[in-house]
Amino acid sequence: MIIRTPRYFYSFKCIADKCSASCCVGWDVYVDESTERKYVDLQGELGERIRKSLKHGPDGTCIGLSEGRCPFLNDRGLCDIISELGADYISEICAEHPRYYLTLGEYVFGGLGASCEEAARLILTEEGGHGYVEKEADGFLPLDCDGDIFNCVYRSYLECVGIALDESDLYSAIIKICGVTERLDGEINGDFSEKILHVPGDTADNYRFIREMAGSLEYMNEKSRDELFSRDLEKTCYEGCRTHGKKVLLYFLDRYYMMIAEDGDALGILGFILFSTAVIFRRLSGELRSDVSVFREYSSEIEYNECNVEAIREKTRSRIYTDVLPMFSL
Ligand code: SF4
Repeated sequence: MIIRTPRYFYSFKCIADKCSASCCVGWDVYVDESTERKYVDLQGELGERIRKSLKHGPDGTCIGLSEGRCPFLNDRGLCDIISELGADYISEICAEHPRYYLTLGEYVFGGLGASCEEAARLILTEEGGHGYVEKEADGFLPLDCDGDIFNCVYRSYLECVGIALDESDLYSAIIKICGVTERLDGEINGDFSEKILHVPGDTADNYRFIREMAGSLEYMNEKSRDELFSRDLEKTCYEGCRTHGKKVLLYFLDRYYMMIAEDGDALGILGFILFSTAVIFRRLSGELRSDVSVFREYSSEIEYNECNVEAIREKTRSRIYTDVLPMFSL
């Protein structure tokens, strides 16, 4: 197996107590079977605490949150389980977060999810420019996928990444990426493809589209709806945000484009990539701390909710030119 990741993947280190948006708050912590077995016979007070905290449900076993926080996150912002027993005793999800992996055939496409504050910072500040590492990988099993479709999608993915890296103007890059992906859609879906509309919508319709989309999504924190979609919606984009905008585009291309090889939905996935880039782009200021915060908030509220991703794919698939692209220039 070969694993391909952005170069920054190997620079990640959790900043623990210095993190202002800890992943130990607000998320269910699922416990895999092998970690749960370690907890069964664990001696001492901590063993008792862990066993008492476990909740068993149809989706598996998880650590029950206490007032929205993992009960093992202590006042110093550190994990009691790691502090007392070491990293071998935390569940796989805690050990791997924020890393993600997509396996296709003999390939694994990995990266860091931007719902983690430190990952979002690394993505926006990559030293030495955006690059990739490919190496032999242990611990992954090959997953069946159609070789011809994989090759078409991989070729288009590399082309899109090349465009994003080489093209100095973000909007021109996006137009070219649309062309590459429409061609890919034709190659894999032929006449069965849902036709994409090319007539640009008017500005009032675009604002309505964004507001309707915002209203149809789910939020963990209702304030995020306003933060991400409503507040200052009409304000002009800040020119200096284009460097961070490019990094955001590359992040979504790296994370989602190869998923086209799974279900063939080239236009739905492109719609999601561009809509997500546009929402974040419109909130960027060029100031690192604030841009990390917007990027992280969008990722944890929208991108990490499968229903939201599905809803955006459905609604943007045929409306990329009419409603998504104008978001970059409103
Ligand atoms: S969100 Fe990231 S940096 Fe913060 S505690 Fe979790 S893994 Fe660490």
